[in-house]
Amino acid sequence: MAQVTPESAMHITKVGNTLLGGAPEWNNVYGIGATVPASGIYRCTGCGDEITSNKDDKFPPQNRHQHVNQTVPVQWQLIVKTQTKA
Ligand SMILES: [Zn+2]
Repeated sequence: MAQVTPESAMHITKVGNTLLGGAPEWNNVYGIGATVPASGIYRCTGCGDEITSNKDDKFPPQNRHQHVNQTVPVQWQLIVKTQTKA
């Protein structure tokens, strides 16, 4: 789980419910090699591992993130979106 200190938490903003649209990057999951929709921290829904990825890069290929049980899909979900000027 991503961690913050009391001091760094002041730089984190909780945004409203996005389930009804407007920011699809929060609601979708992304597979192996997909294009990263927004810079930030992503969590694998299959194993809980976390990665940081930059917008427009690719998510890790099959040989960089694998599950022991290969029937468990690798799906990346945005958990912390970074604020960048680009
Ligand atoms: Zn995983």
